[in-house]
Amino acid sequence: LVIADVAVIGAGPAGAAAAIQLARRGWQILLVDQASFPRPKVCGEALGPAAAQLLDDLGVWPDARAAGAWPLPGLVIHGPDGSRTICRYPDRQPGWSMSRLDLDALLVAHAQAAGADLRARCRVTSLVREDGLWALTCPRPLYARAVIVAAGRHQHLLPMALRPRRSRRIVLVAPVTGIADLDAELALVLPRRGPPALIAPQGPQQASVALIFDGVRPPTGIDGFLAALRDLPGLGERFGAADLLAPVRGMAIRAGRTAQPAFAGGLAAGDAYGCIDPITGHGITLALQSGIAAADILDIALRVGRLDQPFLQLYAATMAPLFEPPLHFASLAVHLTRHPWLAGGLLRRLGQRPDQCDALAAIQGGLRPADLVWPLLQQVALPGLAA
Ligand SMILES: Cc1cc2nc3c(=O)[nH]c(=O)nc-3n(C[C@H](O)[C@H](O)[C@H](O)COP(=O)(O)OP(=O)(O)OC[C@H]3O[C@@H](n4cnc5c(N)ncnc54)[C@H](O)[C@@H]3O)c2cc1C
Repeated sequence: LVIADVAVIGAGPAGAAAAIQLARRGWQILLVDQASFPRPKVCGEALGPAAAQLLDDLGVWPDARAAGAWPLPGLVIHGPDGSRTICRYPDRQPGWSMSRLDLDALLVAHAQAAGADLRARCRVTSLVREDGLWALTCPRPLYARAVIVAAGRHQHLLPMALRPRRSRRIVLVAPVTGIADLDAELALVLPRRGPPALIAPQGPQQASVALIFDGVRPPTGIDGFLAALRDLPGLGERFGAADLLAPVRGMAIRAGRTAQPAFAGGLAAGDAYGCIDPITGHGITLALQSGIAAADILDIALRVGRLDQPFLQLYAATMAPLFEPPLHFASLAVHLTRHPWLAGGLLRRLGQRPDQCDALAAIQGGLRPADLVWPLLQQVALPGLAA
């Protein structure tokens, strides 16, 4: 009977980051995923500068660059009135765009190189703790002293899962090629009518494109997706000769977090800890941060023999201040997509203040805390009052 120190369920960015950290510290790690890598993931594929920094801390960044991570010098916001506002990341800290097929496979390869035992094509169907030991069914039993649940939005393995709320927001994502006049920056399109879009360039004419359908039925098929791109006000012509490099994938958006991220013998990380609306592109940063934080705390807990819930609660206390501000920032961004006149007014003012615009990019890219967005927007909207 092999008993691992930690079983990490889910080998996305959260689980792989945790596995890398724990395996490098000498713990015996089982990294379990229902998929085999490389595998696709529905994602806008934008990495803020903070995510690149975390990947660098994990020692993965040089390989990510070599695998084709594409630099994004900033954020361009296409306003409801056809305006174009460019906010820049600091010079030496661009954002990036990278296919999740490549990024996630790279993270898993680093976890394996660190010594983690990858069990791919292994779907965990039950997780039971008895006498201080976890038994995972996948389908044969696996055993571990501690567990990190990093299974993304699939939260049935957690003791207190995020209640699946019906979402009125559906995202369709596809890699698109043949785009004319593609901006160099990560583009956020906020049209007066029609779906907001997130366009993350991945080459001279190529980008990962996400369309967000809020309370309206999304189109179906490749033709429907391309037609929606060609209907984007002011940008449609750019997609005249566009084509898709892979099928369109879609999912309903969820936001919120589990009520119990730390439990006796285990922690939840990444989207299993909590989901953020993808509009601000913070998900991968938080997945990496939470995976690393979960590994740090379990490392100490295993050393001192404290896998009890009160001790592991330290993790919940660490994560809450990291998660809540981006969650509120994303809610604010969603609100702006629903009120184009408000977004248009803010963008007009932002366009006149490059310093504030760049401060917004730094917040979006995770370089500055997301709770600074409120005072920033207050300064933008009411400069006299803020002074
Ligand atoms: C449409 C959309 C666009 C997005 N765009 C961006 C963006 O541009 N930038 C950004 O930073 N974030 C974005 N996000 C958010 C980002 O994708 C997630 O926050 C991130 O993938 C979370 O990583 P994770 O490791 O927690 O989960 P995941 O990446 O979902 O990985 C979970 C893993 O668990 C495995 N798994 C699930 N259940 C089981 C089981 N029972 N047994 C074994 N394995 C299991 C899955 O196969 C998967 O590999 C977007 C999200 C969506 C939905």
